[in-house]
Amino acid sequence: MAAHYLDHAASTPPHPAVVAAMTEVIESSFANPSGAHRMAREANRRLDAARAAVAGAFGWTPGNIVFTSGGTEADNLAVNASLALAARRGTPDPLAICSAVEHHAVLEPVEHSGGAFIAARSDGTVSLDHLEELLVDADRSGRMVGIVSVMAANNETGVVQPVAEVARVVRRLAPQAILHTDAVQYAAWEDTRDLAATVDLMSVSAHKFGGPKGAGFLAVADSVDLPAAQLGGGQERDRRGGTQNVSGIIGLASAAEVTVADRAGNNVRVGALRDRLERGIVDGVPDVHVTGATARRLPNISHLCLAGVESEALLFLLEKDDVMASAASSCASGAQQASHVLAAMGVPSELARGSVRLSLGPASTDADVDAAVEAVVAAVNRIRRRG
Ligand code: PLP
Repeated sequence: MAAHYLDHAASTPPHPAVVAAMTEVIESSFANPSGAHRMAREANRRLDAARAAVAGAFGWTPGNIVFTSGGTEADNLAVNASLALAARRGTPDPLAICSAVEHHAVLEPVEHSGGAFIAARSDGTVSLDHLEELLVDADRSGRMVGIVSVMAANNETGVVQPVAEVARVVRRLAPQAILHTDAVQYAAWEDTRDLAATVDLMSVSAHKFGGPKGAGFLAVADSVDLPAAQLGGGQERDRRGGTQNVSGIIGLASAAEVTVADRAGNNVRVGALRDRLERGIVDGVPDVHVTGATARRLPNISHLCLAGVESEALLFLLEKDDVMASAASSCASGAQQASHVLAAMGVPSELARGSVRLSLGPASTDADVDAAVEAVVAAVNRIRRRG
């Protein structure tokens, strides 16, 4: 029986056009793009074309794009390079601030730097009042804010953050601060051009929208003279040393083009599938809490908390029915970790223990939704009867 893949927020199947484009480059354009000979110049030409395509797809110009090994590197680079830039400008101990619901790729570098966290509201959006308080307190205590990072959409709940409002608060109270957004989930489903005009830095990762793993970028506004966090051969205009992953970048560009062309249609179609999925489960079993239900959400994610259910038992039974899903977030070992996102939203821990994230993609079908509803309802009833 074919698997029903409802874990697109974790990673997506590569689009056939991406596989074809990457295969062709791996076979025919393997030279080092930094070299001087004809074959190297050809690889570099392809890199330039991919850079222009990626920039155009997401609302930036080619010079803004710093290719990275994916979202985690782009997020780390954003935080660490912004703090380094503030220090270079003479700020002794710049402060990093991010929302309490960020992905670990932002959360951990901010934590490591001794940063501060913006509280979330119960619907999963950031508290603008708390952001304001943090910025005023920093100013009063004479601490300059180096970076504020608020994700465009959350990877667990799909909740979309009010980045434009965040920007207004940051520009008013900490005009020197760099504003970063992690658009890793958002870019697959929403037009990023407004974001690009609003923030200074934006992270994107190819494998969330039909591209390969290990390829992504940090977009850097012209006004930010970003220092390199990784030194080497001066690639990416001295902002990220290391030979570029040419085939991965070609795959990223190909995925970006397909995604942007089909995004509006996919948004409507997949949104309807997600709503049907959610309704089926809510109508099928009692005591289901839809996380972030009152906030604006990405169209492809349904995050549910099920009273009296353990996530791991639920995922085990779903897999037996060929439904692939995930819980809050998983660490490299695959084990479930308690969700800092649900904790920040004030979801009681007994309820958070029974969380499941069902995430769809452009290739999802009615059959996937039917199978998932049936499997979740059966599994929840079985677990609750046992309990
Ligand atoms: N940021 C968000 C919001 C994500 O969902 C992810 C991946 O799950 C990342 C960052 C990390 O991206 P990558 O897997 O490319 O390192």
